[in-house]
Amino acid sequence: MNSVKILLEKIEEADAICIGGAAGLSSADGYDFYYNNDDLFNEVFGSFIEKYGIQNVFDGFYYPYTLGEEHWGFLATEGHFILHAQANKVYTNLSKLVGDKEVFAVTTNQDGLFSRILPDEKISTIQGDWRYLQCGLACHDKLYSSHEVIDKLYENVDDNCCIPSDMIPKCPKCGCEMEPWIRSFSFLQGTKYKEEYNKWETFIEENKNKKILFLELGVGRMTPMFIQEPFWDYTEKLPRAYYININPNDAKMPETIKNKGMLISKDIAQVLDEAIRLKEDI
Ligand SMILES: [Zn+2]
Repeated sequence: MNSVKILLEKIEEADAICIGGAAGLSSADGYDFYYNNDDLFNEVFGSFIEKYGIQNVFDGFYYPYTLGEEHWGFLATEGHFILHAQANKVYTNLSKLVGDKEVFAVTTNQDGLFSRILPDEKISTIQGDWRYLQCGLACHDKLYSSHEVIDKLYENVDDNCCIPSDMIPKCPKCGCEMEPWIRSFSFLQGTKYKEEYNKWETFIEENKNKKILFLELGVGRMTPMFIQEPFWDYTEKLPRAYYININPNDAKMPETIKNKGMLISKDIAQVLDEAIRLKEDI
């Protein structure tokens, strides 16, 4: 049987769906500029490319800026884009496909795109989220909403890619620079971080005896311990679980779950498009 047809059937018959989304998913939805120098990257970061010679968003994020004004000029620009970016067709197709099923998403993406299609209580952002700021030294266990701060900073990025010195966000406790709450050397793994894992565990606990589909989308082989390996373990352990991995480059699964899983080594956007067409035909 055609793999897209099986995908559709497995979604239809599932009582609960656990989606795992990583970099390949955002990339399939049009946000490929984290690793690639594409048109969008040039449009959003043109002046940063000129000033620093950066080749993609990660280059810009990890650039060794000398000044806080420069560092935050970049962060404000990246953050503003991410906080206002819309979820495109891949996410809307995904939302249509799962319909009103019991759905939970776990993601290493920090771009908040899942929050455009699911409420926050149905999402675990286990590598952080641009919607929050933390102390750059993680000196205390509190996150601060980033939206207003970042929008204001963005309006003040000057022609030299800097923000005014007195606008650099500072920790209210220790006075050092704040930073976005995303995986880094000082990533705050406090209350909110634990909550993100608790939500996921609760979902599994509540659905462990049901027909549960683990749907993995665009998880690479760099950090399998966050989504992929837990998905494999759950599929093996839970009696009625099934695993589907859609990934054009890295689709794989262990022998142990071969009879409870399927790999689709194709472009995520194309597969979901095809699934929607098939669903509408039925
Ligand atoms: Zn602090």
